[in-house]
Amino acid sequence: MSSLPPLPKLARVAHAGHCNRCLSALPSSHAHIDASRLAIGFYCLGTLDLLGLIDEKTKEEERQSWREWLWQQQTRGVYGTGFKPSSYMTAESPNDTMQDEYSKFDTPHLIMTYTAILTLAILRDDFTQLDRKGIIRFLGSCQREDGSFTSFPEGGEADLRQVYCAFAISSMLGDWSGIKVDRAVAYIQRCFSHEGGYGQQPTGEALGGTTYCALASLYLAPSATVTENANSYITSSERHRLIRWLVQNQAPAGGFSGRTNKLADACYCFWCGASLQILGVGDTVDKASLASFLARCQFKFGGISKDPDDRPDPYHTYLSLAALCLFPLEDADVSWRLPRLDPLWNASEPTANWIREHVSVSPCD
Ligand SMILES: [Zn+2]
Repeated sequence: MSSLPPLPKLARVAHAGHCNRCLSALPSSHAHIDASRLAIGFYCLGTLDLLGLIDEKTKEEERQSWREWLWQQQTRGVYGTGFKPSSYMTAESPNDTMQDEYSKFDTPHLIMTYTAILTLAILRDDFTQLDRKGIIRFLGSCQREDGSFTSFPEGGEADLRQVYCAFAISSMLGDWSGIKVDRAVAYIQRCFSHEGGYGQQPTGEALGGTTYCALASLYLAPSATVTENANSYITSSERHRLIRWLVQNQAPAGGFSGRTNKLADACYCFWCGASLQILGVGDTVDKASLASFLARCQFKFGGISKDPDDRPDPYHTYLSLAALCLFPLEDADVSWRLPRLDPLWNASEPTANWIREHVSVSPCD
């Protein structure tokens, strides 16, 4: 018998309102958060996508202006094509000479390229402007000798997040020719930690977010489309330790923590929960207490926070809803009904289908 209190309603309209307010960061001038505009836009629009409220809560003119703004961030240059984090680094170019050759201030960014493609898919863009070949070249120029990837062709951070983005983009395009998959897989394997998760880099402490990046990458890898093959990248002893570590991260309060002996945080309900789902053992998650924890993280004026005592933000709102998509409760109020989610791309099923139909390289390209 469960001793959990009755689940309140999921405040769908209030959460949509929170993200709608934060969306004003996209085309307007909030200079202090300019560098993360693209990421904030993704979490806000992703929230509306999961709630099925994008058409109701945004106008077609707004969606069109966001699409146009996103395409303005696609830049071409010697290292290929990708998306930059925002327009703030663009040099003054009155005669638009920068259009075809980015400067060192205008370089595309690997994580933002993944984010932009997902956001454009949420906005149901037709992707006729996507420079697929240029993006494939860009991915290759971000890969290092040891198999890892940097955020920019000539540097930037290099950890499992960049590996995941390179794998996700390759799988969305259906073209793996830009990267050396075997080297990247070997790099991921070196990040496995004795605790049972993956660290951001080899010898790093196991973290929930990077464990998700590692597992999703291994299951996206082209020879890993069959579950048995993905398992061949993970030994049975590693798999055993992974499941044990991930399951132990679900705190008695119902939320997951991102590392050993830390407090529960709403975003790890997705990172750890999706990892268990990818491993095929989603039934090890206590769904009712997970939903109960996330219900308590709902802020009274909308949005979901990292824990019940904090303030909401689009990142935790989106990832909480994404976790709830993966662990639906059959007997909960109708307000908790959410679409299925593709755990490897972190996209709703309709958005993932849109990507399959519009982003993949066509055979005649
Ligand atoms: Zn968090």
